[in-house]
Amino acid sequence: MNGLEINHVSYRYGERKALDDVSFQVEPGRFCALLGPNGAGKSTLFALLTRLIVADEGAIQVAGFDIARSPRAALARIGVVFQQPTLDLDMTVRRNLRYFAGLHGLSGRSAAIAIDRALAQLGMAERADEVVRSLNGGHRRRMEIARALVHQPDILLLDEATVGLDAAARQAITDHVHELAGTGLAVLWATHLVDEVAMADQVVVLHRGRVRSDGPAGELAGES
Ligand code: ADP
Ligand code: ADP
Repeated sequence: MNGLEINHVSYRYGERKALDDVSFQVEPGRFCALLGPNGAGKSTLFALLTRLIVADEGAIQVAGFDIARSPRAALARIGVVFQQPTLDLDMTVRRNLRYFAGLHGLSGRSAAIAIDRALAQLGMAERADEVVRSLNGGHRRRMEIARALVHQPDILLLDEATVGLDAAARQAITDHVHELAGTGLAVLWATHLVDEVAMADQVVVLHRGRVRSDGPAGELAGES
């Protein structure tokens, strides 16, 4: 499958077990919320998925590539939206995206096409030539998502993607991410907000480094 597969993954910081035998899958076209309170292990899982750290045990497959054996191929299939902004505030959106396209080996016409596509997917095509600093918080966050899509990944990871935004901006972002899943992306959306899981097709609840439940959002009544 072209989605994400996490099999029996464990990770320790010294004595502290941050992830303990974590297994779940996100299929292509699925919007999966990863729900857990602070300290549950969400950031640790993202660090594993972006290969900032390496699992002590278990395996992770990204679009069919084993992240330990084929890290470059696996990472090329993942787009990540971090909590921290990555765009240069004083450059235009397009110039920022061209820079990130370049990191993925895209330039010239193929970069321009990929950038236009990513911006259109977030409803931001008409703002491409604005300087990032001139955009409001919601639009900046949408540009961060577009940035994560320029290399046309199969899997999109979002870490607390709506923190600090108002309700309208949050709704716009969740709607766009939903549409992205509709195009076949596997989406993993980390959040500590129970309210945010209603929009998901699948909810994985992480608690103290373990998967406590995994299923449709409707089955979540009474969780964390
Ligand atoms: P979340 O992102 O869900 O808040 P984290 O992955 O940051 O959870 O943390 C999971 C656990 O690992 C917590 O108990 C946290 O204290 C611990 N932890 C996270 N980062 C480190 C670190 N660099 N060193 C030691 N312990 C850490
Ligand atoms: P040029 O069009 O002149 O090749 P680039 O757009 O590639 O310029 O950017 C020039 C330099 O500016 C890059 O090598 C990079 O170090 C820095 N840069 C550009 N965009 C960013 C960004 N979003 N974040 C951090 N550094 C950036």
